[in-house]
Amino acid sequence: MSRLFPSLTDDPVAQEALRFGDRSLTYRQLAAAAGAVGERVRGRRRVAVWATPTLETAVAVAGTLLAGVAAVPLNPKSGEKELGHIVGDSAPSVVLAAPGVELPDALAGLERIDVDADADGPVPVEDADEGDPALIVYTSGTTGPPKGAVIPRRAVAATLDALADAWQWTDRDVLVHGLPLFHVHGLVLGTLGPLRRGGSVRHLGRFSTEGVARELSDGATMLFGVPTMYHRIAEALPEDPALVKALAGARLLVSGSAALPVHDHERIAAATGRRVVERYGMTETLMNTSVRADGEARSGTVGVPLPGVELRLVEEDGTPITAWDGETVGEIQVRGPNLFTEYLNRPDATAAAFTEDGFFRTGDMAVRDPDGAVRIVGRKATDLIKSGGYKIGAGEIENALLEHPAVREAAVTGEPDADLGERIVAWIVPADPQSPPGLEELADHVARRLAPHKRPRAVRILDVLPRNDMGKIMKRALGSA
Ligand code: ATP
Ligand code: MG
Repeated sequence: MSRLFPSLTDDPVAQEALRFGDRSLTYRQLAAAAGAVGERVRGRRRVAVWATPTLETAVAVAGTLLAGVAAVPLNPKSGEKELGHIVGDSAPSVVLAAPGVELPDALAGLERIDVDADADGPVPVEDADEGDPALIVYTSGTTGPPKGAVIPRRAVAATLDALADAWQWTDRDVLVHGLPLFHVHGLVLGTLGPLRRGGSVRHLGRFSTEGVARELSDGATMLFGVPTMYHRIAEALPEDPALVKALAGARLLVSGSAALPVHDHERIAAATGRRVVERYGMTETLMNTSVRADGEARSGTVGVPLPGVELRLVEEDGTPITAWDGETVGEIQVRGPNLFTEYLNRPDATAAAFTEDGFFRTGDMAVRDPDGAVRIVGRKATDLIKSGGYKIGAGEIENALLEHPAVREAAVTGEPDADLGERIVAWIVPADPQSPPGLEELADHVARRLAPHKRPRAVRILDVLPRNDMGKIMKRALGSA
């Protein structure tokens, strides 16, 4: 028997559990509404959830999990083609949605159940095994078409409890949340996390720095965000004393889903005295590492392996790297109760993703600092540039470029080069479109900070960088990665 939400099944209390805008539910009300969803879905194999950033989505997922059924969260911004793929692949029998919301044609064949956040169902009883699937979450599609990761109940419980340990996360914590609800970050950490702890979550609907300042000055204790949100915060701080005060008073600021640029981390630290804590995870593994609440949040590190997670760095041929010298780069492999069980309908991809001894190959490259902290260098597929006999991580060059005053955004890729094997290309969104920085200037800037062989050999100026809905840079769309 696996229980994910004791606070919803053991005599739920009148404390606030969820708040979305001006609508909220106490644990008692949520248990009743989730109980009503559970009555409708119990016995089914899989249900889709139209995951708008609403109270109904949280009720739908909680009710589905309490009934021991697997939920497939759908991104309401997906195109018909992607939705068609996901629905065809996961074959849910029904879609749960907020009343009055129009659903796209791709979902026309599914029975629809409207979620009533005010419904009064029976207090739910959780009845499922820890190996049963809780969620099927499609990866962000940053490096290829999204794959459906089958996430067991065991993994949800393990990751949330490991984070509670690392972050000293309790029922007194109130989380500010502005992320979408169809990926692990916003759904598992940001929504199921507070419910498992018995604390509460306030969702902004749409992220804004004003919303963050308001909630953190009104009793909220934690903020979870992606780097694009912290970038907006870093930009807003100089003009916004209320935001400075709100962040300075927060218990915990957490960033994840992509690397937090050093420049933003340091600007936030300088303005507020608070260091953003980075954690590293994936759809397939939930969370692997985090800076601990009482640990040292150095910019550029994602902390240490979470309790229960075995993490190793390996050479290309699989040999483990034992040096914690901050320099030797290897692929991150992980094993533990936090792992997914398989990619849905993809036995080939599943088999290829695991080593013989059961470690998951993340495809992310990293080094370990002498104190054990992991520093991610980038993705093997798109962020590792082999140039002039060196293996160069795109991330440190991006960080250096972002420190240049004429650079607003930067992405670095490798491009075939007759002499060097690959050459470093910098894609730049300039601070002032009228006077973009030139190649020589940027190359000198990087060469002085890092090393001459890390300087870009070409600069391409763009209006915006291509990003997905988590704010991740889509390097494939840059054409040369
Ligand atoms: P796809 O697998 O479909 O290409 P994706 O890998 O972006 O997309 P997710 O599972 O949402 O899909 O993202 C996990 C990836 O995000 C990790 O493998 C890693 O590359 C990156 N990531 C997550 N957290 C961090 C972090 N703190 N620092 C750097 N990278 C991170
Ligand atoms: Mg991935």
